[in-house]
Amino acid sequence: MDAVTSERLKALFETKLNSAMRVYLDTCARCGLCIESCHVYASMPEARYTAVGRAEVVRKIFKRYFRVQGKFAPWLGEVLEFDDDTLRRLNEAAFSCTGCRRCMVHCPFGIDTQLIMGIAKALLVGADQEPKILSMLSDMSIMKGSTIEETRADYTTALANLEGDVKALWPDTTKKPDGSPYPAIPYGVKGAKVLYVALSGAHSVVPAAAIMNAAGESWTVSSFEAVNFGAFLGDTKRMKAIAQRIIDEAKSLGVREVAIVECGTAYRVLRHMMGPQLFDVVAFVELIDRYVSQGRIRLDSTKIEGKVTYHDPCQIARNGGIYEEPRRVIRALTPNFVELTPTREENWCCGGGGGLISMGEEEFRMKSSKVKADQLAASGAQMVTTACENCHSQLSDLSRHYELGMKVEFLSGLVARALVR
Ligand code: SF4
Ligand code: SF4
Repeated sequence: MDAVTSERLKALFETKLNSAMRVYLDTCARCGLCIESCHVYASMPEARYTAVGRAEVVRKIFKRYFRVQGKFAPWLGEVLEFDDDTLRRLNEAAFSCTGCRRCMVHCPFGIDTQLIMGIAKALLVGADQEPKILSMLSDMSIMKGSTIEETRADYTTALANLEGDVKALWPDTTKKPDGSPYPAIPYGVKGAKVLYVALSGAHSVVPAAAIMNAAGESWTVSSFEAVNFGAFLGDTKRMKAIAQRIIDEAKSLGVREVAIVECGTAYRVLRHMMGPQLFDVVAFVELIDRYVSQGRIRLDSTKIEGKVTYHDPCQIARNGGIYEEPRRVIRALTPNFVELTPTREENWCCGGGGGLISMGEEEFRMKSSKVKADQLAASGAQMVTTACENCHSQLSDLSRHYELGMKVEFLSGLVARALVR
């Protein structure tokens, strides 16, 4: 690697060195308490797949360029210079980590490996060595923000084509102030209370629309997809640009609340990483729970056969604090709910986060999530439900790959099919 690139990466690293990060990089006692926490290590026991092993790659670069010994006596060891092998190691560390933060729960110092891997990802972007699929998808999302007018007509046609499917689940729509009906999927409604941000695909629009219509919600659907590829990429600038499109839309419509589709990362970015907003941000499962708790929707609790378990998406549960809401909803759906073991904060990551699903690779995802497959099988449930698109895809792949014979369902889909008048 040439000296100019190396200096550029060093400067980039320095921009990430806030006080929390310096503590994380200086404090690790190598106690090893985080080792067993990682689903990758639990499934593939190699040192490079431990939280501390991953962080050491970044920590050794930190020591080389920002600590006295590394600057003046790097030959004393425990340091890494920027070169092709270091970039390879950064890539391996960052993209074998789903950012689930289960390790952080067990670290006595609360060291945040996801944040440390954020540096690894940023350095890869700076060296133009990031997974290109993630940067391409990020750029497409950002571009959509600036070309929305050109695609608006096609989008409204696509929404209109889904109206029949929504009405099959719930025939009534909400009403305008003059008493006339809104379409089953209202779009561009100024002054609506809730802006619902979906993903691409009818499965993320139709059940949610039926549920909100059944609850008599004042809502409107977003022009944008919730997914934030910039967060998977570890590029803060692109992550913020993608989230900002939704913030700008919410402000221009004057909504009071933004409800994020079942997508853990999109929720975490908008709720916890974009600073305070003029509107509230909720995960869609919180909205469903509110409707059930307030009696705004009623659910048939006889529709689901067999035992049902729930997978807590890491970005919604451990990293978002949403544990009780989905459980209340599931108990309204079935008397046969069983918890996974371990559960809640200790739940094993599905193994598909951090961009791994979007990157398309499957072999590592399946091998590194064997512990998740074992956990699902041990529950004895015939169905697992969840509230995150990534988790849904990964759990479906796991059920097929490990022949678990388990149905995988979005919570919103189960609720929409159980709506009763
Ligand atoms: S954040 Fe999750 S995947 Fe990454 S090292 Fe920690 S436990 Fe492993
Ligand atoms: S538990 Fe914390 S202090 Fe101990 S090795 Fe892991 S990251 Fe370091």
